Amino acid sequence: MTEDGLPDDETAAERKMRFLFALRSRGVTDTRVLTAMERVDRGSFVRGLFAERAYEDMPLPIACGQTISQPSVVGLMTQALNVQTRDKVLEIGTGSGYQAAILSHLARRVYTIDRHRRLVREAQETFRDLGLVNIVAMAADGSFGLPDQAPFDRIIVTAAAEDPPGPLLAQLKIGGIMVVPVGQSDTVQHLIKVTRLETGYDYEELRPVRFVPLVEGISTE
Ligand code: SAH
Repeated sequence: MTEDGLPDDETAAERKMRFLFALRSRGVTDTRVLTAMERVDRGSFVRGLFAERAYEDMPLPIACGQTISQPSVVGLMTQALNVQTRDKVLEIGTGSGYQAAILSHLARRVYTIDRHRRLVREAQETFRDLGLVNIVAMAADGSFGLPDQAPFDRIIVTAAAEDPPGPLLAQLKIGGIMVVPVGQSDTVQHLIKVTRLETGYDYEELRPVRFVPLVEGISTE
């Protein structure tokens, strides 16, 4: 056993079983989502010191002071998004690229935006190494969405906003779904599922979460 009680002689297959079991026990039950998560090795998205903790159900630090989300939260958000195979998906907050990689197995095309150029560049390298050719990653302020490619079937925001950003709501197709963490502070945030109806928007509160904030403007880093 290692210090944190995890077996140190675990095989890759046992590690994967434990990873998937943790997801299921935290409510990720959609088979398509579990299959996509089984296909994406989280270890490819965590560099440096924390790489060995990639298979634990916890958020971990990545470059630029950001975090790769907890796998079960990634799973629950992906499940709430109910992605269909023909969908065009927009993600705000590329971070490590892990969430986008999972979406790439479920959707036709994924556009992902981050305000840190370095994170975008590193994620692009990882997508290339993994042969994920249906992801387009770019550096920009994601609060404005991606008007050139709008409307989107699905939008996922992986940083917390005070309110769902107006431009993103406007870039959602009718019948489309957006999942976004919303909250005024670091400590109180809720995951919200927004469905665009013909006549307006339906808001459903899913669960409390904790994300880094959505920050205005592009970073110089
Ligand atoms: N989805 C990521 C985790 C995202 S962490 C993963 O799977 O690893 C949140 C990310 O949102 C950070 O990388 C941060 O740089 C980015 N972010 C914050 N505000 C932003 C904005 N206005 N536009 C684009 N990205 C933003």
